[in-house]
Amino acid sequence: MATLDIRGLHVTVDTEQGTKEILRGVDLTVRAGETHAIMGPNGSGKSTLAYSIAGHPKYTVTGGTVTLDGEDVLAMTVDERARAGLFLAMQYPVEVPGVSVANFLRTAKTAIDGEAPKLRTWTKDVRGAMEQLRMDPTFAERNVNEGFSGGEKKRHEILQMELLKPKVAVLDETDSGLDVDALKIVSEGVNRVREGGEVGVLLITHYTRILRYISPDFVHVFVDGRIAEQGGPELATRLEDEGYDRFLPTGATPASKA
Ligand code: ADP
Ligand code: MG
Repeated sequence: MATLDIRGLHVTVDTEQGTKEILRGVDLTVRAGETHAIMGPNGSGKSTLAYSIAGHPKYTVTGGTVTLDGEDVLAMTVDERARAGLFLAMQYPVEVPGVSVANFLRTAKTAIDGEAPKLRTWTKDVRGAMEQLRMDPTFAERNVNEGFSGGEKKRHEILQMELLKPKVAVLDETDSGLDVDALKIVSEGVNRVREGGEVGVLLITHYTRILRYISPDFVHVFVDGRIAEQGGPELATRLEDEGYDRFLPTGATPASKA
């Protein structure tokens, strides 16, 4: 059973104003079958954590370790991380002009498995997954993320996750920009992947809304690049009622209720 282990993670990013430390000692363990919600105010470092796990070149790890089943993730290239079983659904998915969704998925699957998927079962799997996500079949012929609506981008990320079958999936603000119907469809997709109990999910979200559909086993509150508090699902309920105000410095403008 897969385990992603993050210990004392420190990460900096280079900005125009110089190097800035964003993650300041993050400890987190995600095991297969567990869903962890990472919550927290804007700018607290949630996406930075996701990008650091995925190996985005803009983020420099200055301390700590990340391992997947004991293997040093930080020593792996981005491709190796994907092959090792890490999956990231980005908050802002990027366009891939000239590459259709169908080709993209097949190429990704081939790269991750080390061999091309059997055509017949693959076509059936893709069609089935798209149907469950209520995606029109013509969607497969469109270029990745080009002109996709917010909801289409998020469904495409979930489609990838369902087909690529990662060991640990990091979903960054998968709920953002979704209406209630799309949120339900996307959440069902995540829950299908969770059902087998084989994947660990790191669900990053500012709002508690998605947690009504995907119930987390653990909730961690990120503040200023660190986990400030953690608990069970009841912590999400408390945040829904109270927002993040109690985590912000006194005298700060109260954030709107999450
Ligand atoms: P969150 O996802 O919790 O809203 P982020 O991880 O996106 O937070 O950002 C944390 C902090 O790091 C913010 O102050 C943000 O401006 C800064 N930051 C993140 N990525 C970059 C970047 N690529 N360039 C400059 N600043 C960044
Ligand atoms: Mg973010």
